[in-house]
Amino acid sequence: MVSLKLTFLGSGSEVGRSSILLENEGEKHLLDCGVKVSSGNEYPLISEELASSLKSVYLTHAHLDHSGFLPKLPKLGFKGKIICTKPTRDLIQVLLNDFVRITPEKIYSHEDVTKMLSETSLVDYGDMFYDAGHILGSASIKINDLLYSGDINNRSSTLLDKFNPPKEAKHLILEGTYSANKDKFASQKTIVKNFIKSINDTLEAGGIVLIPSFGIGRGQELLFVLDNHMKNGVLKKVPIFVDGSINKVLRIYRSNANYLNDEIKNRILTSVKDPFQSENYFKPKTRTKSDVYAAKPCIVLSTSGMLNGGPILSYLKKCCHDEKNKIILVGFQPENSKGRKLLEEKKFSFESGTVDMKLQVEQHHFSAHADQPGLYEYVNSIQGLETVILNHGESKKLHEFQEFLKDKTGLKVIIPENGESIKLS
Ligand SMILES: [Zn+2]
Ligand SMILES: [Zn+2]
Repeated sequence: MVSLKLTFLGSGSEVGRSSILLENEGEKHLLDCGVKVSSGNEYPLISEELASSLKSVYLTHAHLDHSGFLPKLPKLGFKGKIICTKPTRDLIQVLLNDFVRITPEKIYSHEDVTKMLSETSLVDYGDMFYDAGHILGSASIKINDLLYSGDINNRSSTLLDKFNPPKEAKHLILEGTYSANKDKFASQKTIVKNFIKSINDTLEAGGIVLIPSFGIGRGQELLFVLDNHMKNGVLKKVPIFVDGSINKVLRIYRSNANYLNDEIKNRILTSVKDPFQSENYFKPKTRTKSDVYAAKPCIVLSTSGMLNGGPILSYLKKCCHDEKNKIILVGFQPENSKGRKLLEEKKFSFESGTVDMKLQVEQHHFSAHADQPGLYEYVNSIQGLETVILNHGESKKLHEFQEFLKDKTGLKVIIPENGESIKLS
């Protein structure tokens, strides 16, 4: 019987700094190695002693909460390999260099990012890495009897195929970003309809619509949705300004066409209708973005999605005093984050001080994560399951889901805290 030991170095009852130590047959591996980006960054509990004893890191996907600490590892003595898909490697190159640029606390340099990238070993989807449907190249990872979900999306999106999880596992580490009883998303069709209507209302009133977005994943999906609705005449035709790393990432999507759904892949490979080019997309021409403000009504799509840095902050500062303008949050806003405060209190803390927001603030759930029914369906689809370990979620949500799962399935459901170890056999 193979015995496994897991130690949660981050992501225990929190969204952020995903990192799990896996001890298996005398070898030590990490599952993900992320940072927690909030008001002050937080890092996984990795000592020099641990870093130097690791054989490898298995990386599920490129988001910073899974990858952001990787360049620090070699500085702590890590000499192993980082194993991920090709799109993930391409995407972290952009994301980690952006992170170095925008984060005030420098824990590594651009050179460290380059050095770390040279230690990556690429794998394709197969019997260890399974398509997780979350962002380009995202994977769930199966090692022996253990399945680590990473971040999963059980619905197909405009650019990606639906996920393709393995059929069997004995132990499952499952993300619970949206695992509370109330976390049940409307259909994608309804979400898109409401989103487009809300944007149209602001454009008709002559305002600017700001959409903060992750550099990868939602940014590209949203551009595609906006452009399609403009071309169909459903959305008022105005310039869509694209700022931050979203543009750079479009090139990576194009060069990894095989990881996109068939329709998009064919459009790229045949170059008939390149899905990532449009006469509606513009890049701001000036540092002050004066061309953007002169073009109103217009739409601005910019990083960062959690409003912790990036060009979106200068747009918000300029647009926040006019109630005709609107900001639409489309991604997860963690507890104590600036985005959550904006939603709940209509205030925003800029470096220069906290400002009351006059612009309209809305949230539309373009989630790249499964909701509670999706997570439950996922658990049910895996045969031979004995243990479910919930991570990557707020404590209250995870505990609600623990009760729900125990009640419905009779499985053993564990919620580890950071620093806690679990032995599995
Ligand atoms: Zn993610
Ligand atoms: Zn995540």
